[in-house]
Amino acid sequence: MPYPDVALLALQLVFYVCVMTLLFGLRHRYGIGIFFCALGAMHFLETYLAATFYVAVPGGFLVSPGSTILFAGKIVLLLLVYIREDATAVRQPIYGLFAGNLLMIGLVAILRHTGHVAGIGPNPDFLFMDQMGLLMLWGTVLLLADGILIILIYERIGRWFGRHVTLRIAVSGVAVLTFDQFLFWPVLHMVTGVPLVTLLSGWVAKSTTAVACALLVGAYLRFVEKRMFDGLNHPRLGDVFDALTYRQRYECLLEASGRDGLTGVGDRGRMERECEREIARTLARSLPVSVLLIDIDNFKMVNDQYGHIAGDALLRSLAAMLQANLRESDQVYRFGGDEFVVVGLGIGVSGAMRLAERLLREASELRFAGGHGPATISIGVATAPDDGRTFVALLSRADSQLYAAKQDGRNRIATAAGTWSPTGPDSRQPRPT
Ligand code: GH3
Ligand code: MG
Repeated sequence: MPYPDVALLALQLVFYVCVMTLLFGLRHRYGIGIFFCALGAMHFLETYLAATFYVAVPGGFLVSPGSTILFAGKIVLLLLVYIREDATAVRQPIYGLFAGNLLMIGLVAILRHTGHVAGIGPNPDFLFMDQMGLLMLWGTVLLLADGILIILIYERIGRWFGRHVTLRIAVSGVAVLTFDQFLFWPVLHMVTGVPLVTLLSGWVAKSTTAVACALLVGAYLRFVEKRMFDGLNHPRLGDVFDALTYRQRYECLLEASGRDGLTGVGDRGRMERECEREIARTLARSLPVSVLLIDIDNFKMVNDQYGHIAGDALLRSLAAMLQANLRESDQVYRFGGDEFVVVGLGIGVSGAMRLAERLLREASELRFAGGHGPATISIGVATAPDDGRTFVALLSRADSQLYAAKQDGRNRIATAAGTWSPTGPDSRQPRPT
């Protein structure tokens, strides 16, 4: 009756993954130990079933619930740990299983030399225990490699699949289980004599399970974890540290430390961390990048005449205006004082000019010190690859353009082609270099 068996296998998968994700979710309240212990308890059953229990499914395949559901599920669940916690959390159960397996082999080695009273229950099967010990040990060595590999693949394909977490889990799961199957099976065959058909069957079944697990874990991340996290927007005092995991706390700290305290845009440290990498990535895709260096005109005068509080308010409204005028992929950082850097990934010469013109126009709408005067800004623009291919080169080029814009009378944009001002009849005049 292969079809009901397929349904039963599917039921086991859903049951297993749902219970395990529930235990994972409970870490917010009870810690992650419950989840790890449950995962460890499945290890024996998983290996035992891989050696002994096979189900015939349509297509002539023989599938073991142990190596299919329990093992493939474990790999995807470990990836879930990485996604919500970090790699140090993933290594805990792997090292724990490794140590536990070695301990088990050691204890069995002592036990077999210990006299025991025969006839009480079935006789101990040392051959079976040796076989299980060897398989579990080899399985855990592979699990270590699998754990590292799945994280690397998941991160690597993030470049292409970005926020499609379910797809990333499915692809990395299938890749790692393929690797695992072809290394685990030969030892399983040597130890237990399982037939060749189980090699291909196991691979198909593990890959299918990885995709099904990815869907379940993806749904969990989206609907359960997200809801818990969203609930933190208005947390009761004291709940925050219970609910935030280490990884989330670390990300929040990183996020907070990368922001400029006054304006809320990225700070200089963050700019240095991010820009070089993002620009290299964009250029590798043969897309242009523009860097705009923006400086408020005569800002000292605002400070001197209206006070630093008014100056701060102008800095804040300029930063808000910049953010409001950028696409999601563009970044804005406070470079220092009254200087801001905008990095437009994928923006070429004409796009950068249009953006700069818009910023210049919007800046003139800003009022400082209770509406005392319009603010103006000057912008130096550099575009890769023509003006350089690194962030440092582009920034230094934009800096010399900014200097030229100030020299030419402020409230203007300077690019390699010349300076341009919204006022004055001689707009867009090429500037001799
Ligand atoms: P220019 O048109 O040539 O740029 O003239 P400027 O007066 O704007 O000159 P500059 O850009 O060199 O002036 C920057 C001033 O910004 C100097 C400093 O007093 C002021 N400043 C730096 N950081 C802050 C800040 O956090 N708040 C306030 N209110 N002022 C700041
Ligand atoms: Mg200035």
